[in-house]
Amino acid sequence: MNSQLLIDRFGRFHDYLRISLTDSCNFRCFYCMPDGPLNALPSQKLMSPNEIFHFAKFFSDLGVKKIRLTGGEPLVRKEFSHILEMLAQLPVELTLTTNGVLIDKHIDTLRKSGIQSINISLDSLNPETFFKITKRDDFDRVMKNIEMLIDCGMHIKINAVAMRELIEHELIDFIEFTRDKPVHVRFIEFMPFSGNNWSSNKVISADQMMKLVGSEYDVVKLRDKPHSTAKKYKVVGYEGTLAFITTMSEHFCGDCNRLRLTADGKLKNCLFGKEEWDLLTAYRNNSDLMSIVEKCVEAKFDKLGGQLNPDFEKIDLDAIDNRSMIKIGG
Ligand code: SAM
Ligand code: SF4
Repeated sequence: MNSQLLIDRFGRFHDYLRISLTDSCNFRCFYCMPDGPLNALPSQKLMSPNEIFHFAKFFSDLGVKKIRLTGGEPLVRKEFSHILEMLAQLPVELTLTTNGVLIDKHIDTLRKSGIQSINISLDSLNPETFFKITKRDDFDRVMKNIEMLIDCGMHIKINAVAMRELIEHELIDFIEFTRDKPVHVRFIEFMPFSGNNWSSNKVISADQMMKLVGSEYDVVKLRDKPHSTAKKYKVVGYEGTLAFITTMSEHFCGDCNRLRLTADGKLKNCLFGKEEWDLLTAYRNNSDLMSIVEKCVEAKFDKLGGQLNPDFEKIDLDAIDNRSMIKIGG
């Protein structure tokens, strides 16, 4: 097949696909959910397990090397194990982003799937703050599940959304979490999506966080992998690492290799793009998928979906036309 199809007009080759398995979730993180009722998709609008497999194989044949399963919460999808077993047959690096609460239920499938790295979202190491953010009392279960994954030898990245008021109190606790655990904490600058009450004064930039960390610790810069969204560091002598995902203060669009497939089968060429290409309807109507993918890749903007101001202080949330994060799939 023609892998040229995945190269955009800026020469970026898109070999990483993120597939959202559902837009439902068992948590209610306020920075991710839209205001108002959730209106989860009815099951006939979701890609079926066979459709997910078909699209994953289609993109793998085109040159995609890595597939991340996300959501909503991917582990609430009732066919999760079946989907994972099917995708594990493909010649791609398979990985997962999850809130971690159902890991214990799926641990055997995860081990058998050959997944080696999992991203767990955990925004606080304080049970009360965890509850305030997620509206769920599952802190202990998530922490136990993280330990379980570490014991299985998985590479664990912890995604913490960094919002000024919240993270300032916890930065040091998170760094201490890396002292004798092989965990890789990544602070994600708070991003704007429709209905998530974002404002620029809630963003704490990587530079600001690094100043706080640097005043307490001896920190060294580590080498970042190609296409990595995270700038990685390590406290000297600590087992784990820390990193910053600087989407707001210093975007990394020039090196972007990601495409996204939403749970209802729409292809997005950027997290912040408003345009979507309906692959699922095309597939169900036996239409040509190649030409749709070609149009989607061709239309990709050089940066930030063509609609976010690179100076985040000038972003107007009300002017953004996009899905909420839970409906895109992180
Ligand atoms: N439910 C899974 C989870 O929480 O890991 C997967 C989906 S979630 C939408 C994917 C990632 O997006 C999570 O790490 C979450 O913290 C992050 N996220 C959601 N909203 C965000 C926002 N407004 N800014 C930055 N990161 C956000
Ligand atoms: Fe659910 Fe993940 Fe969004 Fe939290 S961040 S509401 S766990 S999808």
